[in-house]
Formats: sequence, structure tokens, C-alpha cells
Amino acid sequence: MTPLDLQFRLDDLQEDPREFRGQIATEALDEVLKGMIGELGFRAQGPAVVTGNVYRSRRDVFVEAEITVAVGYDCVRCLDPLVFKFESKVRHLLVPGKREAAPTGEVALDAEDAADADDDLDCYEGDTIDLVPILREDILLEMPMNPTCVESQGAACARFEQVLSAVSSTPEAEPEAAIDPRWAPLLELKKKLS
Ligand SMILES: [Zn+2]
Repeated sequence: MTPLDLQFRLDDLQEDPREFRGQIATEALDEVLKGMIGELGFRAQGPAVVTGNVYRSRRDVFVEAEITVAVGYDCVRCLDPLVFKFESKVRHLLVPGKREAAPTGEVALDAEDAADADDDLDCYEGDTIDLVPILREDILLEMPMNPTCVESQGAACARFEQVLSAVSSTPEAEPEAAIDPRWAPLLELKKKLS
């Protein structure tokens, strides 16, 4: 059976898991990533690649997805442009409409749901399911709030330490022209402290 896209209809689903694969476009990612941390803002390096399985039980839709994405940013300490790549496995339980709108007589949360309380509970409207906004939210939640070199390469900012020691050993009269102008605030701070 051909894999589904990230948008599909409830009728496309059965109780047996069905594969889906697709991409979340770079522009769609940037819509939500930009502005997250101001000028050091995140920018997608390309589309997010998503694969997974989906199945239904009556009108409840169970989604297991693996997201691979690369997001560019500038280290908040040393301003180096970096790329944060990650793979994330997520699970979602999608229910029709609003939970409280369930007809009387239907149990809102059965034992199985309670056991899976870690799953995110999402809603879909009508009989069309769009995974893009849901998975995009997962990506946002993975993004570090103050990303430094550590998130990208697992090590502290090499250049930050280099520049600090270069500044320490530079005589006061030495022009700072060779240093990245974005360092100016840091250099000012250092002068005040010394
Ligand atoms: Zn850094």
C-alpha cells in the first residue's frame, strides 16, 4: 500500500497501522521558528522529513512519527552560525472535535487512554487529518531556548574562549578592528569590569 502523505482522511485509515511519509516545507517551519529568539532567530535549513505509522480505533487516530530536521541559529554566546540537527520520535492521539463534545454515554477516557497519558491529545475537525501543524509544534518544543555551541556540537564555544583570551592579552591601545563588530558590547563590558 502506498504510504500516506501528512494529510489524509479518516477513511484512509484502518485498525492496522499504515505508513505515512512526507515533508514539512522550509517556509512552513520558518513561519513558526522565526522570532522565537529575536535576532538570533532560528531558520530551517530545509524541510523536516517525517515518517511514521498511523492507525485508527473507531474515530480515535493514533500517530507515531519520527521527525528529522536541521535548524540554523546563532550561538547566543559567541554568535557563531550553527546548525542544530535532531531526530525526534513523537506520539499523538487525535480525537474528533472537542473532547467535551463527546456524546453522552461515551466514556471520555478509557483505561487504555489513561495508561497512555503521556501521549499528546490533539483534535481534528471533520474527517480530514493534517499532521503538519501538530508535528511542527513538536519541532518548536525541541528547540533550545538559549542555544549555544553546546547544542550544535556538544562542546563549549571555542571561539568565545579564544576571543576572550585575545582581548585579555591585547594592549588597551590596540585597535579592535580585526574583531567581529558584533563583539562590541562584550568588549565594552570587559573594559568596565577590568
Ligand atoms: Zn558559541
